[in-house]
Amino acid sequence: MVTTHNLGFPRIGARRELKFALEAYWKGQSSREELEALGGELRGWHWAAQAKLDRTPVGDFSFYDQVLDMSFALGNIPPRAAGYEGDVLDNYFRVARGRSAPGTGEGISAGEMTKWFDTNYHYIVPELTAESAFTLNPSRLLGQLREAQSQGVRSPKPVILGPVTYLRIAKTSDGSDALALLPRLLPVYRELVEALAAQGADWIQIDEPALVTELSTEWQAAYRTAYSALNTGKAKLLLATYFGRLLENLPLACELPVHGLHLDAIRAREEAAEASVLLPADRILSLGVIDGRNIWRTDLNAALDWLEPLAHSLADRLWIAPSCSLLHVPVDLDSEDKLDAEVKPWLAFATQKLEELRILATALNQGRAAVEGELRANREAVETRRLSARLNHPGVKQALTGITPGMGARKSPFTDRAAKQAALLQLPAYPTTTIGSFPQTAEIRQARSQFKHGTCDEAAYRSAMQAEIARSIRAQESLGLDVLVHGEAERNDMVEYFGEQLEGFVFSEYGWVQSYGSRCVKPPILFGDIRRPKAMTVEWIRYAQSLTNKPVKGMLTGPVTILNWSFVRDDQPRSVTCRQLALAIRQEVLDLEAAGVPIIQIDEAALREGLPLRRSQWKEYLDWAVESFRIAANGVRDETQIHTHMCYSEFNDILASIAAMDADVITIETSRSNMELLEAFKTFAYPNGIGPGVYDIHSPNIPTERQMVELMRNAAKRIPAERLWVNPDCGLKTRQWEEVIPALANMVSAAKALRAGT
Ligand code: GLN
Ligand code: ZN
Repeated sequence: MVTTHNLGFPRIGARRELKFALEAYWKGQSSREELEALGGELRGWHWAAQAKLDRTPVGDFSFYDQVLDMSFALGNIPPRAAGYEGDVLDNYFRVARGRSAPGTGEGISAGEMTKWFDTNYHYIVPELTAESAFTLNPSRLLGQLREAQSQGVRSPKPVILGPVTYLRIAKTSDGSDALALLPRLLPVYRELVEALAAQGADWIQIDEPALVTELSTEWQAAYRTAYSALNTGKAKLLLATYFGRLLENLPLACELPVHGLHLDAIRAREEAAEASVLLPADRILSLGVIDGRNIWRTDLNAALDWLEPLAHSLADRLWIAPSCSLLHVPVDLDSEDKLDAEVKPWLAFATQKLEELRILATALNQGRAAVEGELRANREAVETRRLSARLNHPGVKQALTGITPGMGARKSPFTDRAAKQAALLQLPAYPTTTIGSFPQTAEIRQARSQFKHGTCDEAAYRSAMQAEIARSIRAQESLGLDVLVHGEAERNDMVEYFGEQLEGFVFSEYGWVQSYGSRCVKPPILFGDIRRPKAMTVEWIRYAQSLTNKPVKGMLTGPVTILNWSFVRDDQPRSVTCRQLALAIRQEVLDLEAAGVPIIQIDEAALREGLPLRRSQWKEYLDWAVESFRIAANGVRDETQIHTHMCYSEFNDILASIAAMDADVITIETSRSNMELLEAFKTFAYPNGIGPGVYDIHSPNIPTERQMVELMRNAAKRIPAERLWVNPDCGLKTRQWEEVIPALANMVSAAKALRAGT
């Protein structure tokens, strides 16, 4: 008999109940009891949704973040939060957000947040020093385990983050080696395993996704040390790996003294058979056969074709599950009443994925005939998708084959283009600009939402947007900025805006996925070939340009960012989808140019986050990502200036690719790092224009003229002044006009001071 289980369930709630409960509690609008009660209710619902599984995850529910939960369970609380006299959960929120519910103590600086492997989920980075000590606090986990037991949840399986991955994703603030803490950490993990076992857990899932990354021999050895120490004989450990292939770590993972190993059989299908041979005969092999990272319905018949032989040879030793925690997909497709009727049957959210798992297990245990109807329905849905006329457009396929290397290349080298652009644009030294968006006021949001819900007509909507564009053009003119933007009032989100106008996308209503804490994103669903029926931005930019003699910069989202922030089709390589997006953006770029727009910015905010987990695979990704950008951007004439924008500060390892994009100007985030980042651009001898951000838009602080002059002087030590631009770190949509106006006024004065050399 195969066993079914799950690695984790989304905790935000089908209607984002957790988000609203957390935010109400943080604002002091609801009590601690109400928050706890909602948490209990959600856990109850989630366990009910998983009732068909043989083993059920517990402890995967989190009020903020599973990594921060682990830090608290290990007693690894940052020193600045350690002396807190109040309640543990409030202290937990203080570390997560820098403050707590009102009236529960002083704020502190929040823990750093970063991406969880290659997902869009952000965790709170564990903080360590050589002095860090650990003490067990298992109460949260034991509480959830007890709760599950009392509700009769089937074989509750506590989920914890493993010690090696915990250290691997932590940061030490004193430059010490996190791995040196392993001997101090392991006794606490051991105690935790024993405490859970004593409370009745027979299996414990211990997540070690770091096993899919490249590990030095020290880190590999740490796995051996750790799992020998955790082999307590009290509870069985299921070592869970996911997000990729184990490759050279596969033999290591198979030899560790645990009771079972979970593999991501979506991304590492080819390793399943190998692992079934390598694993000692008393071990469980758990295969993640349902995609936990995407929203497509599984082809169950195809899955059975490759699973059946393994089920036959492994017999009771085979477990099946989603590939990873379902945290990364929305909760329930049944919530979607308005989703495109043709596309909806092609999809499966968390709840549907568990039903798929049940069907697979039944087919494996009792034969396919036992679920004949389900398998037939599945085959039909899969076939309908495959044959849908909306999936494949001969025209798009043909356009792809028509891509030539020349399409991605500018006509002349940068220096020649720069001279022509300078003659045309007549910009001063240290030209000033912004990154695109201006504050999104309540009125703008209301106008957009009314238009979307049909309570305001197109004419009224258009005039509301035009009024907003006019307001931001006036503001920029009186500030004295050199290159203006229209302000992006019409955009709710930089990807969704384009997805809504391109063919090949659909949108869900409740398809929220947790990004961090109470924040969720609703990624568009890219299901088919991408076509651009008509221009998407030209009207707004043209209107903005009609109001001013200063150059207005057209504003687009790049193909790689649209790809990386969407759920994308799984029936063709991502690189192909990206090229289709590139062709659509290229048409928009050419239309903007034809409309007389002299400068076009193509944002690639998510280029870096698409990097594969393994460095050995970076080049392949970067090659097609850069090629896509080049196709999108570089069809313009020399006089048209292309900008790109990337809001992060880690460039050292990808600079060659950034340079290969060949944008005339790149604007980046630098204000907080005091221009240190530019050292990398200098060392690399980055050849084109750069706008290092001088205004940290994540902070309500208003930078002074002097601070910004200082930052730019620092920049000019590394980059020739004639190639420097002056701009904020990122778009201003989350700020208030009252902050933006004085900050930009200081920025313009700073540029003037720099020009005057004062
Ligand atoms: N043009 C976008 C804006 O200004 C860029 C946003 C981003 O980089 N995240 O809002
Ligand atoms: Zn940005």
